[in-house]
Amino acid sequence: MNAHDEVFIGGHWRPAAGTDDIKVINPANEQVIGSVPAGSAADVDAAVNAARSALPGWAATAPDRRAELLTALSVELAACQDQMASLITAEVGTTIGFSRRVQAGLPVNMTRLHAELVADFAFEERVGSSLVLLEPVGVVGAITPWNYPLHQIVCKVVPALAAGCTVVLKPAELAPLSAQMFTECVAAAGFPAGVFNLVTGTGAEAGEALVRHPGVDMISFTGSTSVGKHIGAVASAEVKRVALELGGKSANVILPGADLAQAVRVNVADVMRNAGQSCNALTRTLVHADDYEEAIRIAVEEIASYIPGDPADPDCRMGPVVSSTQRGKVRDHMRRGVAEGARLVVGGPEAPEGRDKGYYIRPTIFADVTTEMSIAREEIFGPVLSFMRYEDEGDALRIVNDSEYGLAGAVWAADEDRAITFARSMECGQVAVNGGAYNPLAPFGGYKQSGVGRELGKHGLMEFLQTKSLQL
Ligand code: NAD
Repeated sequence: MNAHDEVFIGGHWRPAAGTDDIKVINPANEQVIGSVPAGSAADVDAAVNAARSALPGWAATAPDRRAELLTALSVELAACQDQMASLITAEVGTTIGFSRRVQAGLPVNMTRLHAELVADFAFEERVGSSLVLLEPVGVVGAITPWNYPLHQIVCKVVPALAAGCTVVLKPAELAPLSAQMFTECVAAAGFPAGVFNLVTGTGAEAGEALVRHPGVDMISFTGSTSVGKHIGAVASAEVKRVALELGGKSANVILPGADLAQAVRVNVADVMRNAGQSCNALTRTLVHADDYEEAIRIAVEEIASYIPGDPADPDCRMGPVVSSTQRGKVRDHMRRGVAEGARLVVGGPEAPEGRDKGYYIRPTIFADVTTEMSIAREEIFGPVLSFMRYEDEGDALRIVNDSEYGLAGAVWAADEDRAITFARSMECGQVAVNGGAYNPLAPFGGYKQSGVGRELGKHGLMEFLQTKSLQL
């Protein structure tokens, strides 16, 4: 795809009012691969106006018809899946196999499943003498990050459109090309003009203008906790609805008697995928004192197969991180870990051998990490695993919950009931029990400073609906 030098407003690509552009860089070789307009407040205003004009017609469109158009969108996304995967590999540095399956593949399924969901969803119910109606919230401003750029867009735009809302999307500045390809798919699927609009741009200008715009009824944001707090405060001051999907510091708890080798291998794979840039990455590994050194030995053996390399090579298991800034942040975290007394087992802040171009990081394991250390508390967003030792289950639970974050987690035990009992006490929004698989219809979102609200499935759809009762 050639990058558009335009924004998509009211059903057309058109020149942006903002005159700056944003260069997109391939993190594997530091080459510029395209550029997109840095939309201004005037572009956001035009897009919100288009979304407001389209709202009455779209909100009144029968859910079956909305489902048909979303199904058409899933067909368009499937048709460009390979192209999309290559594009995201070039924008973000995700290894190509994972890009095909997850970055480009998962959103196809997600869109289809949510089309089916809305076709069967009960938008009305009787409660005694009342008729309770679920109506669209209105115009949604969607602001997304770069780590799973298409997935994060689909998690917001698809349920918002399914609910009968209209949307203005402001994607991440590091990965806007996949947002443009998504927009091509929306256009090809045949949605009415103005139902979906795209304004590329910076957070400080286009993002801020969207959050402050009086014509926006709801902001749905995925990104860092610091930006989320700011957006939440600004949008709430105008009593806009706000949904926030923020950072995480998720724990993997291996209880005595669990299959240690499997639990550690799955954990290493989980943190290495997308070079550690997953909000729900299991970056704190909690192991009982008796199994602790053996778990670290298994992890060291496992991590050796993750050799940083060209993500476009189908045999590569780990690419670079997304940007030079991100690489700098990850290395700073590593240096602080060493300074605070954690044991650096493998990896570290030096550049990997033979990788003088590209934003590569050494896959890293720290041991003897304790709850007060910054590497146990702060989101690193890189391929870094911290091992923490516990003495008994009470101790493990205290460590898990001693976090400002509460996005996700995992627990392993010989007996599923014991694992479920432990999972019930974990303060987070999603827990994988003995390696339980990701479910695209299960609600996803955080406790504590990991966010407000839930995405996906019926809970995700409800985020974009408001309730009215008719007293009969
Ligand atoms: P970020 O917060 O820097 O940026 C996210 C988006 O917000 C971008 O589009 C950016 O342009 C925009 N933005 C920045 N400042 C803004 C402002 N003042 N007003 C409006 N918009 C603004 O995050 P990032 O670096 O792109 O993404 C990484 C973060 O996202 C990590 O913390 C990760 O954990 C989190 N994340 C969370 C989830 C989840 O579902 N909970 C999923 C993926 C990523």
